[in-house]
Amino acid sequence: MLKTSDILDEKDKRVRAKNVDVTFPMTKEDKKLIYDMLEHLRLSQIEKYATKYDLRPGMGLAAPQLGVNKNFFVVCYEESEGVFHDYVVVNPKIISHSEELIYSSCGEGCLSVNREVEGIVPRFARVTVTGFDTEGKPVKYRVREELAIAFQHEIDHLHGILFVDYIDPKDPFKNIENMREI
Ligand code: ZN
Repeated sequence: MLKTSDILDEKDKRVRAKNVDVTFPMTKEDKKLIYDMLEHLRLSQIEKYATKYDLRPGMGLAAPQLGVNKNFFVVCYEESEGVFHDYVVVNPKIISHSEELIYSSCGEGCLSVNREVEGIVPRFARVTVTGFDTEGKPVKYRVREELAIAFQHEIDHLHGILFVDYIDPKDPFKNIENMREI
């Protein structure tokens, strides 16, 4: 099981390092890591386990946050009370997106950013992402709203970008009038 301390802080160089595409077949270690990342995210969103294991709630993780500089991420999304859907995207690419921009009203969080950050991050309301599953089979996801934000946040990690990079501390709500709050 992944511990909170296994997730690298933003100060760690590996969070900002270049990531390489995965070649198939995927290694056993990388597959195990994906399993562990999803388990961690799921438990972190269930209060009983979050308290028991001292986990910060999170819905997404990208490989570099675990010190693996490869292009894959996972999202564990709670579709309805207690019902989770796991997404794994290897070598992801955003192939299209909406014109419309949105931002999260409660601010974005990141398991690598262990400080309070005020401000908004512009995200596309809808994105289409292609990539592969762990067996190398092509996958395509059309996601919107909260899930679209999560996918864009995780894909940014694979480019060494953190959500805080978008926020100007002198003007943390810049351009808010051009975006829809969700
Ligand atoms: Zn993050």
